[in-house]
Amino acid sequence: AKGELSRIAGVKPETPDGKVLNLRANISSFKELEIALESGAQGVGLFRTEFLYMDRNRFPKEEEQFEVYKSVAEKLNGEPLTIRTLDIGGDKHLDYFELPEEDNPFLGYRAIRISLERTDLFKTQLRAILRASRYGKVKIMYPLVSSVDEVRSANAVLAQAKRELQEEGIPFDEQIKIGIMIEVPAAVMIADLLAQEVDFFSIGTNDLVQFTLAVDRMNESISHLYEPYHPSIVRMLKTTVEAAKRNGTTVGVCGELAGDPKALPIWLGLDVDEISMSSHSILQVKERLLRTSQHGSRKLVPQLLDCRTASEMIAALAEFKDEID
Ligand code: PEP
Ligand code: MG
Repeated sequence: AKGELSRIAGVKPETPDGKVLNLRANISSFKELEIALESGAQGVGLFRTEFLYMDRNRFPKEEEQFEVYKSVAEKLNGEPLTIRTLDIGGDKHLDYFELPEEDNPFLGYRAIRISLERTDLFKTQLRAILRASRYGKVKIMYPLVSSVDEVRSANAVLAQAKRELQEEGIPFDEQIKIGIMIEVPAAVMIADLLAQEVDFFSIGTNDLVQFTLAVDRMNESISHLYEPYHPSIVRMLKTTVEAAKRNGTTVGVCGELAGDPKALPIWLGLDVDEISMSSHSILQVKERLLRTSQHGSRKLVPQLLDCRTASEMIAALAEFKDEID
């Protein structure tokens, strides 16, 4: 079926009633980039840079990172490349970087928290990203943000990196867009405040579901409780999207839920700007997008917000008729 779907790889991602929903790829390897390009992805909505750090026995140098970011940016032919800064800790480890033994690694020393303490490592990555920004439409995204202070501290390091490059006469995109992952419930609750600090949001449903439901996403003995269709999640999505829109901040989704064709009416109904997913899901999601009306999806949203259980939510999405207008 996948071979058959390749015929729509070049088709514009638009609903029958004219809503363009950009379908971007999550990538964490060059192989995934190739699949993304074959599937006609509108660029990369989430570049998980961890693999660059995992593939070696020391931190990658600025030059090494720059070469990778530049080559990916160039392959995208002007489509966006959202580079997420290092998100290690939690489930992701580096052999050469000793992290403390923690009882709750997902709630621990990880992601932006490490970057803000190890500003040397953070600035090296930001310099590499900035230098690559002249070779495509590069954006910077910070993971696991839970406060306005973190955004401001990260931006202060970014400002310093920019200043250094200017002094060294190294060009970069001065208008580079800055965004954050929305994947911690606290970030949802202050989304209106965070929206005033950044250019874009990308909702990470993998961690957002884990933290909202207090269900470790790696723990198999409770995997039946890990439920993206829990009524709390659609409510959080709505809060986040509305806060973004009120502030003119672009909003997308990049967790696994974005790659589930069943969830598509949610994105259309809430009117998000883009969704980013595993390269393998792009064509399936596009196939549904091409026959799903946004008008109908909008009418479905109040119904979803009224669902009391995950089963009700799943049933409401299953009963939804794409062509209803
Ligand atoms: C997420 O948390 O939804 C996400 C996209 O990031 P990761 O899966 O890399 O934590
Ligand atoms: Mg995450």
